[in-house]
Amino acid sequence: MNVGTRIDRREFLVGAAQGAAVAVCWPGSAAAQRTPTRLVLLGTGGGPRPRKTSSAAAQVLLINGVAYLIDCGDGVARQLAFANVPLPTLRHIFLTHHHSDHNADYGNVIWLAWTSGLRTRVDAWGPPPLERMTKLFFEMNTYDIKTRIADEGRVPLAPLVHVHEVTRGGVVMQDENVKVTAALVRHAPVVPAFGYRFDASDRSIVISGDTSPSDSLIALAQRADILVHEALYAPAVDRLVAGVANATTLKESILSHHTTAEDAGRVAQAAGVKTLVLSHLVPADDPTVTDQMWMDAARTHFNGTVVVGRDLMEI
Ligand SMILES: [Zn+2]
Repeated sequence: MNVGTRIDRREFLVGAAQGAAVAVCWPGSAAAQRTPTRLVLLGTGGGPRPRKTSSAAAQVLLINGVAYLIDCGDGVARQLAFANVPLPTLRHIFLTHHHSDHNADYGNVIWLAWTSGLRTRVDAWGPPPLERMTKLFFEMNTYDIKTRIADEGRVPLAPLVHVHEVTRGGVVMQDENVKVTAALVRHAPVVPAFGYRFDASDRSIVISGDTSPSDSLIALAQRADILVHEALYAPAVDRLVAGVANATTLKESILSHHTTAEDAGRVAQAAGVKTLVLSHLVPADDPTVTDQMWMDAARTHFNGTVVVGRDLMEI
């Protein structure tokens, strides 16, 4: 599959603009970096079905003690606990798109962080209808929130959360630690869906989100240190689909808006990244698909370092 031929003009233009923007290092001053940027894979499995062996794909960046969480599938708050990330340090949440394996615990992680002592601002970034989802979540859980404010003396929760709906590619936010840039990726029928790039002073890290091979993602990821890319092991999809009831077009769906491990390697090579991390693995729990098989597939077209992502791996 030639990734260069599967892109519409709008996405290409957005991607090209981002390619120019991300060439500039941010913040640029090594003095601003007090501790090395850490990337922890909180979950590495693709799909919303709860599994024994891996959580839904999510990751956290820790920069100078501040937590930047990317995606919030089932159990993400507990994965943060396993990763020894204090929940009150949660500062920014980025959602790539609104599939349940990426957003099921979006409200829960904020709510549970608050019960763990969070009393400072949280900014949430992601596609519409994030604003409405946030409002309805707080409404749904008014009883517990009000009770804890009255009974435990907690600060009101809703005013802490500031929602920013992301509708196009480009710079999303920047603070003293990092600049974040988004690119529209290809995950129809879920539109918009985004990949995000994080430029800290010591490292650049790109999270693909869910996407078929995307030129805008290649532009976003140019020369990044790390690209965390979703990956599908195509020969195993038939077995996977056979085990799932109530989803008659699942195979076509999986194949049409995801990326094979081989193509993830192509994307990484075209972007010139140093390290490709395979995550959002589909299938997530097929023991016949070994790390070596994932690795060999990704290396077909990529000369850099390949890492097969596992839950709680730090990179
Ligand atoms: Zn998805």
